[in-house]
Amino acid sequence: MALYCGFSTACKKLKKLIRTIQRLLQQVIGTTAAAVLVMAALFSNTDVHADAGDWIVKYETPENDEEEALLELLQGEYGIPDMVSYLESQYRLKKPVYLQVGADEGPHYEVDNEIITIPYHYAAEIYERFDKYGDESRIDMSDMDEIALDVIFHTLLHELGHALMAQYNYPLFFEEEDVVDALSNYLLLEYTEFGAQVAVSAAEMFWVEQEDLSTYEADDFWGEHSLEIQRAYDVYCAIVGAYPDDSDHIVDSIFEGDEDKAYDCIENYERIRAAWEPLLEPVIIRD
Ligand SMILES: [Zn+2]
Repeated sequence: MALYCGFSTACKKLKKLIRTIQRLLQQVIGTTAAAVLVMAALFSNTDVHADAGDWIVKYETPENDEEEALLELLQGEYGIPDMVSYLESQYRLKKPVYLQVGADEGPHYEVDNEIITIPYHYAAEIYERFDKYGDESRIDMSDMDEIALDVIFHTLLHELGHALMAQYNYPLFFEEEDVVDALSNYLLLEYTEFGAQVAVSAAEMFWVEQEDLSTYEADDFWGEHSLEIQRAYDVYCAIVGAYPDDSDHIVDSIFEGDEDKAYDCIENYERIRAAWEPLLEPVIIRD
């Protein structure tokens, strides 16, 4: 289980240090793996397993200065290349997934073409929402780039959830968007280092997205997704379930100190774990 720092940003430096060490280790291990592959190719007597499900990323050409800056962020440190190599190292897909960065529409997953789309305007919206409604947020917004990358990683994991549903033909007992929300929150909290920190950023994004909806229209209630405010509470509930001993601040500030709700969150998380773990056995790449 990953280290959880709550709302505090005190562990950001530690997080960056650990990621840097991981990156260095990856480079060393990657070099070794490459050497093994070359040896295998030369001697052809070693079974080399390659994952069928690589991520193939395409970056669309930015159309203005804002998109140019967003592309720079997305391709930079801890950006899409790091996220994709991390996801490839964690989850075994049956088929390749195409990721179109800078697509016109999305973010979403097109099941027929195995394409995940992340538009530039979606990345821009993260900054706009926090800029407009950030006063309502509970997190430190001094590093908005980090928050934006957290939100995009959470989104990628959600879209990966759709890809897993399709590729592994998982049974669907409820609205897919809600199933995938629960699955991606679980993957984030159970298997991702600092996943809870990412989850808090994502929950706060849902929170500031909600701020625009001063009045509800009927189609808000029959839309594919749960309402943003529900998705925010669901993320926080999953964090309480994953970190029951370290979540008093969430129970107090988000769930108004409601201990029954905290108990429900813990029980729900355990049920999700029990339901998904056998199904995820072929998916999770264990060390
Ligand atoms: Zn979705």
